[in-house]
Amino acid sequence: MSGLEDLPLRDDLRGRSPYGAPQVDVPVRLNTNENPYAPPPALVDDLTTAVVSAATALNRYPDRDAVALRAALAAYLGHGLTGAQVWAANGSNEIIQHLLMAFAGPGRSALGFVPSYSVHELIARATGTRWISAYRAEDFSLQAEAAAAAITEHRPDLVFLCSPNNPTGTALDPAVVAAVVEAAPGMVVVDEAYAEFSAQPSALHLLPGHPRLVVTRTMSKAFAFAGARLGYLAADPAVVDALQLVRLPYHLSALTQAAALAALAHAEETLATVARVMQERDRMIAALRDLDLEVVDSDANFVLFGRFDDQEKVWQALLDRGVLVRDVGLPGWLRVTAGVPREVDAFLTALREVL
Ligand SMILES: *Cc1c(COP(=O)(O)O)cnc(C)c1O
Repeated sequence: MSGLEDLPLRDDLRGRSPYGAPQVDVPVRLNTNENPYAPPPALVDDLTTAVVSAATALNRYPDRDAVALRAALAAYLGHGLTGAQVWAANGSNEIIQHLLMAFAGPGRSALGFVPSYSVHELIARATGTRWISAYRAEDFSLQAEAAAAAITEHRPDLVFLCSPNNPTGTALDPAVVAAVVEAAPGMVVVDEAYAEFSAQPSALHLLPGHPRLVVTRTMSKAFAFAGARLGYLAADPAVVDALQLVRLPYHLSALTQAAALAALAHAEETLATVARVMQERDRMIAALRDLDLEVVDSDANFVLFGRFDDQEKVWQALLDRGVLVRDVGLPGWLRVTAGVPREVDAFLTALREVL
């Protein structure tokens, strides 16, 4: 038996930890922000037919450029977008990886406003990109002047914004995005993984005239399709050309492309669950505030709540009662995903016991 220390691992990876949201098999899992509603049966039927059809041609490589899927994603996004302005990959995490490989990497830097989605930093480091943390205000908001000042100070090659922000739920005013695009010397990536839950307008409307702006989306959250792994972005067609230099040939399997196309055809039905999820989110916020807890306003399908002297202890006590929430490593705080009513009830009951 040998350990990591015995391997000729890259020096900059030594001592690092893999992404690690615990996958614990308990009755109530409210820790990774998925849509709690399973895909509708009509979607499952169409997806099965599409996958069976794709299976008959699996001896051949898939469409390397996923042309049909990208056109369907562009149609879903609207804003007059076409397939040439859309790129797709295995989850938006792979989209983020493509962006960092093309526009950052060794000798370059990426900046994010923390606390935010930890995977931005994780993939930045994995691609050899120098990571710069700038900070949100005490209430987790991000103001245009503060954001622009951090960018002017550090001159990063790539800036991550996240709206609504994970793990705080905070949405960005598009004016902040516009100010960041104005100040940034390089690429600006707005991670809109939770856009379908948000009342704030999308940064998509800023794309015309801003060839260094990228908006990333995913089918993992509102779209109830996390297991399929499909993320995408919208940007100037030149950005898509750049990403094709770093993507692996045939990165998106024929099965994934067929499944995602089938899911998009049922978008309306799937997204009808969003209103129900938001109702449960608002019920959780009200109940948590009734317990005299602090709750950050959320534009997403999760809420950050606290503050606890020892959030690890509360996390464990909830888990002992069969409820898995997320300790995002923010001292005093925990994050909980809006589930179905039965799951939210179980969470609130367990939490009242713990307190
Ligand atoms: C969940 C999440 C993603 C999604 O990643 P996928 O790889 O598409 O599943 C991206 N960004 C943020 C902020 C997220 O919370």
